Amino acid sequence: MSDDPLDAKDAAGTTPPRLVIEIITLFPEVFTSFLQASLLGKAVASGLITVERTNPRDFAPGRHRQVDDSPYGGGPGMVLRPEPVAAAIDDVENRRGRAHRLLLAPSGRLFDQKCAADLATRGRIMLICGRYEGVDERIAELYADESVSIGDYVLAGGEVAAAAVIEATARLVPGVLGCGESVVEESFSGGRLEFPQWTRPPLFRGLGVPEVLLSGNHAEVARWRRREALQRTLSRRPDLIERCPLTEEERAMLADLERI
Ligand code: SAH
Repeated sequence: MSDDPLDAKDAAGTTPPRLVIEIITLFPEVFTSFLQASLLGKAVASGLITVERTNPRDFAPGRHRQVDDSPYGGGPGMVLRPEPVAAAIDDVENRRGRAHRLLLAPSGRLFDQKCAADLATRGRIMLICGRYEGVDERIAELYADESVSIGDYVLAGGEVAAAAVIEATARLVPGVLGCGESVVEESFSGGRLEFPQWTRPPLFRGLGVPEVLLSGNHAEVARWRRREALQRTLSRRPDLIERCPLTEEERAMLADLERI
């Protein structure tokens, strides 16, 4: 199959999606416009990616369908009860098969580009969104293959975190990005930040663009960009440099930059 999303569109319904995303959420409507916009919208419309949303509230017993309760041991707020979440997961998997299950949680492993690349190859993933004070710990123990956090801050719910995971993962699924866009040279892909970019006009509010980019010398441009990427990573994210795989030339560039 070609990498052109339009070709995939022709094949919608005849070929299975490359990634199925199951979302377990009390607020499925949060995802509606997000899943319709831009490249992700196209990937969903063409059938390259399928997204299913399931609400634990539909599996909660009683007239009020209560999904939360106060925490054992006391304290403020409410905790999501385990039964409706478990019942939602079981129902989804009984009908559509086992997924790689992620629980969104501030205490989880920090989600990064490597994690996104791994998820993009899994075929079927499930994102379990918490709310209130979080989800009863037994869901993490019994159901989650891993817990992931999108950063060291606390959101009101897992939906925005799940959206970040979906967007970062979906664009790595072959065919989702247009041919013109590359995931090879961008930030984090080689363990470093991306080089800075400019476009027209050549002069904007007194600021020009680096001469070398106008030179037409592709080898020089490539070398300059490698150096800029290293420079940027060194100054903004020195923690990445330590783990960054470097060529001979880049090691020399880095030594040079560190002397400045
Ligand atoms: N009391 C919890 C926070 C609960 S926030 C604590 O202190 O750890 C409610 C829900 O929002 C969580 O269950 C989780 O699903 C989601 N959430 C909040 N912050 C998040 C983050 N940084 N990454 C991923 N999910 C997050």
